[in-house]
Amino acid sequence: MSDLKKEKTVVLIKPDGVKRGLIGEVITRFEKMGLKIKALKMVWVDKEMAQKHYPESRTELMAAIGKKTLDTYAKYGRDPKEEFANLDPVAIGKMVNKWNIDFITSGPVIAILLEGIHAIDNVRMLAGHTLPVFAVSGTIRGDFSIDSPALANVQGRAVHNIIHASGNTEEAKYEEQLWFRKQDIVDNYKRTDEEVMFEK
Ligand code: ATP
Ligand code: MG
Repeated sequence: MSDLKKEKTVVLIKPDGVKRGLIGEVITRFEKMGLKIKALKMVWVDKEMAQKHYPESRTELMAAIGKKTLDTYAKYGRDPKEEFANLDPVAIGKMVNKWNIDFITSGPVIAILLEGIHAIDNVRMLAGHTLPVFAVSGTIRGDFSIDSPALANVQGRAVHNIIHASGNTEEAKYEEQLWFRKQDIVDNYKRTDEEVMFEK
């Protein structure tokens, strides 16, 4: 049972969030939700680290990014051929992935390891839709960004959506070991609300 309270997820506040002074706003939301901070640091990563975070070799990930992009073009009745020479979702995903790598290396990021019940899903709900244009109010991306691939793709850059959050258990495990060393992680403190919320 106690393991349920120990699900972990990695959040990155991307360079747009850091440069716009939104670090506090973002962390506050996760703290208030009830997730426990297990590790937190500021880093300016190099290309090698960025490539490990956004691995081009994960074809299914590239396809998903490409599909989201094509869906946006369809929704707004725009022709993706104007921006992309190849309309294969994987090819589009790989192109976007390169922009992601440029973006995440363009300034410092805050890396946070969060823990709590359904941490992965809870964080993604609070983060909102990947593309801020579709993110509802109340979510981090909905409240603090208005960006859209419609503009980002013309400009050849990543969508500025403030944070990254692990997508599933497998991603969370991979990202935890990628971003944090054992000694970065604090394991043995209690938040006061744990007692109120979870002790019978
Ligand atoms: P993240 O992995 O950053 O938490 P996500 O899982 O919600 O976001 P992914 O589909 O993994 O979304 O996309 C990774 C990142 O790529 C997005 O956060 C966004 O910054 C960028 N991105 C996605 N689609 C596009 C696009 N069409 N044009 C530009 N950038 C995009
Ligand atoms: Mg993702």
